[in-house]
Amino acid sequence: MNDCIFCKIIKGDIPSDKVYEDGNFIVIRDISPAYKKHLLIITKKHIASVNDVTENDGELFSSIFSVAKTVAENENFAGTGYRLTVNCGKDAGQLVPHFHMHILAGEPLRNL
Ligand code: AMP
Ligand code: ZN
Repeated sequence: MNDCIFCKIIKGDIPSDKVYEDGNFIVIRDISPAYKKHLLIITKKHIASVNDVTENDGELFSSIFSVAKTVAENENFAGTGYRLTVNCGKDAGQLVPHFHMHILAGEPLRNL
């Protein structure tokens, strides 16, 4: 997707603070954190939202919680705890139409 900010980050056209990458996902630090620790698991495939996930994406998403756990361990908040949030659509406040899961830990800084 030419206009998609997360596709541009994946291509390296826009800089990001990337903490993890595998064949299906990158994980970056959110540019405007809502929690003390705020990261985004982003699919390398452009999927606009949960509404656009198909059964064919099952294998892609099978490892998303392992990715979250790995990042939580690397960032040292696996033991203290964290939230995983996916916003879908306007009423949920989804701003970027490319699938991402928020990883949130530590104290909240703003509403998400
Ligand atoms: P959502 O509202 O669920 O679509 O979340 C989009 C998130 O992407 C927000 O928390 C933004 O702060 C974050 N975001 C937008 N642009 C960037 C960027 N260039 N680098 C990192 N995070 C971003
Ligand atoms: Zn995209």
